[in-house]
Amino acid sequence: MGTIEGRKPQVVLVPFPHQGHITPMFQLGAILSSRGFSITVAHTEFNSPNPSNHPEFNFLLLPDSLSGCESSYMNSLNEILAINKNSKERFHEYMVEMLETQEQHGQVACVVYDTLMHFVDEVATRLELPTVALRPNSAAYLRSDHVILQLQADNLIPLPESQLQDAIPTHPLLSIRSSSAIIWNSVDMLEHESLVELQRHYKVPIFPIGPFHKMAPKFNTSLIAEDTSVITWLDKQAPNSVIYISIGSLAIMDKKELIEMAWGLANSDQPFLWVVRPSSVSGSEWIECLPEGYEELTRESGCIVKWAPQKKVLAHPAVGVFWSHSGWNSTLESMCEGVPMICRPYFADQVVNTRYLTNVWKIAIELEDPERKGIEKTIRTLMRDKVGKELRQRALKMKQELELSVQKGGSSWNSLENLVEFIMSFTQQK
Ligand code: UDP
Repeated sequence: MGTIEGRKPQVVLVPFPHQGHITPMFQLGAILSSRGFSITVAHTEFNSPNPSNHPEFNFLLLPDSLSGCESSYMNSLNEILAINKNSKERFHEYMVEMLETQEQHGQVACVVYDTLMHFVDEVATRLELPTVALRPNSAAYLRSDHVILQLQADNLIPLPESQLQDAIPTHPLLSIRSSSAIIWNSVDMLEHESLVELQRHYKVPIFPIGPFHKMAPKFNTSLIAEDTSVITWLDKQAPNSVIYISIGSLAIMDKKELIEMAWGLANSDQPFLWVVRPSSVSGSEWIECLPEGYEELTRESGCIVKWAPQKKVLAHPAVGVFWSHSGWNSTLESMCEGVPMICRPYFADQVVNTRYLTNVWKIAIELEDPERKGIEKTIRTLMRDKVGKELRQRALKMKQELELSVQKGGSSWNSLENLVEFIMSFTQQK
């Protein structure tokens, strides 16, 4: 092989600095590291990971000038623009240095970057370094983006009210940048049609090697400290009885929604484990706007924390339902444990994921009425009705299928074999 003798080939990873993006990129790093690559992570100062949690990776710090910036979905466009502008030059210097020292440290095979970090593509093209794009969302979401852009280009947006629920006919897709391949945190059996269509459009190899967290050796990627006492609380609950609630790392609700949720949960008569992230209720630090006496009233049945070890929670036998914002990581984590969901999407891919969860995979119910009565009814349907039983059965079947896909000979396993070979081929071309 044309690799530099005795040295592992190097792969540089460039994540977008939010929890839902950092997690899959680090998981991918762990997967590639276990397949013999040396991993370097170029990361921003904003939401910087703690290098001492990942001694197996090398780290490069990128300047972003975002200090003091409030981390929220509403602010993410500004963040993307600032990072792309401020990190480019330093990244270029790092890459030049790495290319100059390949003899000592191993050949730089390629850069894998989150598609929000456009500057990487520009720098890598200048240095003739191959790039591979990582999509941390579902394939269906990118496909839906294409459809919306095309409808817009055809002057068909806004659609008339009467057509809002209609299926959209397939539209020709639009074009993107120069990556050699696309890696998906997804699985062929979940999104075969979307993956095939995107492959046809981009005309580069695609590697659906998810769910990453089941392919990667276990390790922690959380930016926030996890409250592990929840596991002791779950140990005391009956099997399949607990509703676990989390709206991820970015979504924000208003006080009214929090109060309706609180009463809906209390009135459902089911035990609940509720993650209320600090600052996720607008105008509140944490849960001080809950009705007086609420905590006392639900002391027996409820547990409210700031951040939980979510994957362990979902794998716990006591958890029967996940009430989620339908972020893609949360969706995959729930599917992998066979836990049916209640979806309450807020923005972006969460809306598309919800559609797939309820209408295609049929393992979830959308919370259409987020008032206390609607919440209580939805929980009862899932926990006690025939519909809920059917969703649970399908979710368990899906769990088994996902397990097969990551085992030797499964689709994600095979795709990973192909990805490793593909990255190695870059080292042979030089
Ligand atoms: N998460 C966690 N503890 C919590 C809530 C969330 O560890 O209390 C993790 C969850 O396991 C998932 C990530 O945060 O991996 C959220 O990513 P997702 O794509 O679901 O949503 P986002 O935060 O990007 O909206």
